[in-house]
Amino acid sequence: MTSPDPNALPKPSVSERDAAAGFEVLDHFERFSQKNDIYSRSFWDPSVRSDRTNLFFETYRTPLTTWKKVEGFRQKDYALRNASWHLPDIFAELKEDQNRREGFLDPFTVHRKGPVDQVPVESPEQMSREIKHVAKVFGADLVGITQYDQRWVYTHAYSRQGETEKPQELPQDLPHVIVIAQEMDRGLIETVPSALSGTATGIGYSYDTLVLLGLAQYIQNLGYRAVATMNDTALAIPYAIQAGLGEYGRHGLLITEEFGPRVRIGKIFTDLPLSHDRPKSFGVREFCETCRRCSNACPVNAIPDGPPSDVVHNRSNLVGVRKWTVNAEPCFKFWANQNSDCSICVRVCPYNREFESLWGRVWRWMAGGPLRHMALRLADRFAAGERVNPDSWWKKGAERV
Ligand code: SF4
Ligand code: SF4
Repeated sequence: MTSPDPNALPKPSVSERDAAAGFEVLDHFERFSQKNDIYSRSFWDPSVRSDRTNLFFETYRTPLTTWKKVEGFRQKDYALRNASWHLPDIFAELKEDQNRREGFLDPFTVHRKGPVDQVPVESPEQMSREIKHVAKVFGADLVGITQYDQRWVYTHAYSRQGETEKPQELPQDLPHVIVIAQEMDRGLIETVPSALSGTATGIGYSYDTLVLLGLAQYIQNLGYRAVATMNDTALAIPYAIQAGLGEYGRHGLLITEEFGPRVRIGKIFTDLPLSHDRPKSFGVREFCETCRRCSNACPVNAIPDGPPSDVVHNRSNLVGVRKWTVNAEPCFKFWANQNSDCSICVRVCPYNREFESLWGRVWRWMAGGPLRHMALRLADRFAAGERVNPDSWWKKGAERV
């Protein structure tokens, strides 16, 4: 028996889609400008910008002249972290003279135009299967497809050169969004806080870049349009949830069934005819209502420990959505003070575990149902999320070779 064609089913309304995705978009919702994200603000907003934030970004480009004496922040830790960022850095800097930071503030340029002739599409459902297959061939860990939703597209892009807004360049006639997620290395995340752990982020972005560029070029070569975007252009998490890749966690991150919160997300906007996935729940929201591991572990109390709300801490928050909202200002200042990004909330999250093992799958099943309190107690009892000493990460890795 074949599964029904999702395109043949009645299309859900926006409110039905939101309810399935767990969004509560309120009447006073406002779209977001990338000028207000905390990274942009660290350049133009004096209440965020400081010598520490300048140095924080500098450490990714120019080697520090003095290294901390503590493990995880030594020269080789920064050496590896910065090397892992090399590929996305190259693309980000390729067109800086044209006021573009591709992958972070601007979509990737199409370097080779495709043909005018379009490959015929047998059915959107069949093409979606093919696209997911091709994405996996390029190395995508997770792929989902959803429809364009203007609410999540930034009103404006941000110009680093001008330190101001610039027009959003995404065309509005690309009705489909392919969402890609790349796993971040679990062993590296276990060493958080450390500069070493930032390597997981850099490698995630590197694979994201490779997959997005390859898949977008494939779609161009079929004769259709494709705009590949990473942190730029639109909020990634709402699209990922709509595309069925996961649920929203208390720490403000996507939690996937396969890798928990350890993912980096990219998206491709296209007019290639595609069918859409639907949001799916596996009990994260209910689990987060009982769990406080991330909010208890956050060193600057940036994660709420109450119920979802529409509270706005500052201009870096989305207005008019009831959800768990992280206070990005103290979070980013903590990053700047320690000279590297922080993922303590990712490390301690009980969903940060190995789901290929039978025990991992049993735990997820327990966490997603009435046994969630026991799942939480087991995570506490067996010290899931404990920090691994960065020097022992280096030592054990070398011994395995
Ligand atoms: S990244 Fe670190 S500082 Fe920021 S919310 Fe997570 S635990 Fe807190
Ligand atoms: S640590 Fe707990 S509360 Fe926080 S996101 Fe993970 S499961 Fe939810």
